[in-house]
Amino acid sequence: MDLFSYNEISSLYHVKPIGIGTANVESLSGYMKRLAEAYMVSVGILIRKVIIPNINRDYLRVDDFAGNYSNNINTLSSDISKAVVKILETRTYNDNLIFLTMGIWRDFLHPRKMFREYHAWCPICYEERLQRGAPIYEELIWNFNDVETCIKHQVKLVQICPYCNCRMKILSSLSRVGYCDKCNSWLGLKSYKSDIVTEETKEWDNWVYKNVGQLLSDAPTFCFKKNDQFRDNLNEFLKVKYVSQYKLARVLKISKSVIQGWIAGNKPTLSSILKLSYISGYSVRELLTEDIKPLGQVFKKKIVRKDNIKNNIDKEKIKIELHKAIELNNGLSLSKFCQHNGIVPRTVKKHFPKETKKLLDNYNEYKKNCKIERHNFIISTMHNLHNRGIYPGRKALIKETGKNLVLSSQDREIWTRTLKVLGYNIRYYNKI
Ligand SMILES: [Zn+2]
Ligand SMILES: [Zn+2]
Repeated sequence: MDLFSYNEISSLYHVKPIGIGTANVESLSGYMKRLAEAYMVSVGILIRKVIIPNINRDYLRVDDFAGNYSNNINTLSSDISKAVVKILETRTYNDNLIFLTMGIWRDFLHPRKMFREYHAWCPICYEERLQRGAPIYEELIWNFNDVETCIKHQVKLVQICPYCNCRMKILSSLSRVGYCDKCNSWLGLKSYKSDIVTEETKEWDNWVYKNVGQLLSDAPTFCFKKNDQFRDNLNEFLKVKYVSQYKLARVLKISKSVIQGWIAGNKPTLSSILKLSYISGYSVRELLTEDIKPLGQVFKKKIVRKDNIKNNIDKEKIKIELHKAIELNNGLSLSKFCQHNGIVPRTVKKHFPKETKKLLDNYNEYKKNCKIERHNFIISTMHNLHNRGIYPGRKALIKETGKNLVLSSQDREIWTRTLKVLGYNIRYYNKI
C-alpha cells in the first residue's frame, strides 16, 4: 500500500530549495519552515493541512513530525520522512528535496546520533545573509552532532538562544527560520565571542566540516551501487597496517564489538567513521565508496577531541566568565553556563562555591520574575481579547501572541481564574 496519495490536485508555491550541491545546502526541516512562512502559516498548520492528509495514516499527529521526533526528518531513515519528501516534492514541483536530507547516504551510514536533538546555528551567517538581502535559511550541516564550528567564520555554532537561554527543537509547530521559538528574538549577530578554539581542535573541527560538507555537496551527483566498500576498506586497513581490532577500537574510543560488527557488514555511524577518517587520512567519502588500496600512504594522527581538551580546564577563564554571567544577571542557569563553557557543574561548584551560589540565586530570582511576568501577560492578553469580543481561549492566546503561554498547572489556574473574572462559564468553555 502506498504511504501517500496524489489525489489532491492543488499544489504549493514553487519554493526552491537553497544550496543543493554545496556543503551549505538547506535542511529539509528548514525548508518546511520557509514553505510555511511563504504561506504565512505555522509549521504545525503546514503539517496538519498538507502533509498528514496525504499520508494514509490517520493516527498521525503534528508531534510525530515536530518536537521530539524532528531530528529524524533530516536523516530520511523512516517511512514518515520519506513520505514528507515525496509529498513536498509533488506539491512544490521540486524533484530534488531528498538532497536536503542524508537520504542518499542512508545505505552507507547508520543514522544513530547523526543529528542533534536541538537546533544549532551560526549567528554571523544569519546576519550576513540578512545584510546582503539574501534568503535566510537553515543549513543542514549545522544539524550534525559532530559539526561544532562554522568553517567560514571560525566560530562555534550556537545552540542556546542568547536572549532567553532556551534550546530549540529542530522543528516545532511554531518555529521560524532565524528566530528563537521561545522568545521570537532574531538570532543573527554581527560578531560574537565564541569559545576559544585551539589549533588542535581547529584541525579536527575543520576536518569534520570538510568531510561532512563533501557528503552533502556530492549527494546530487552520487551514483554508487556497492554499499559494502567500507567493509573491504576496513579489512584492508587492518591487514596492511597490522593494526589489531583491539588497538583500533582503543584509538577510536569504541568497543571492539563495534569493529567486529563493521566487519560483519554493519553500517558505521558518522561519528565513528569521522574518527577513522581522521586517523587514517582518508576522507569519509573515500572510506565509504572508493577502493583505498591504490590511494597510497596512510597517515596516522592522534585523535584530538573536545572531550580530551576539556580535562585541562582554564580556571582563570571560568572565573572571568562566571563573574561576567553574575554581573549580566540575564537568567543563565548553572547547567547552561556549563554547556556554554564546556565544563561540568561539579567542577564549577568545587572551585567556585561562592560564585555558583550567586549564579543560582540570580537564576531562581529570574525564574520567579519570569513567571510573574508571564502571568501578567496572560491576564492582559485575555482582557484585550475579551474587549475585542474574542473568547480568550488557549488557541486564541496562541494566535494572538505566537506562543503557547499556558503551560504549567499554575498558568492554567491563572487562565481559569481570569475567565471567571471576565464572566465566562468555565465548565462550558473549558472544552474549547
Ligand atoms: Zn558562519
Ligand atoms: Zn530566545
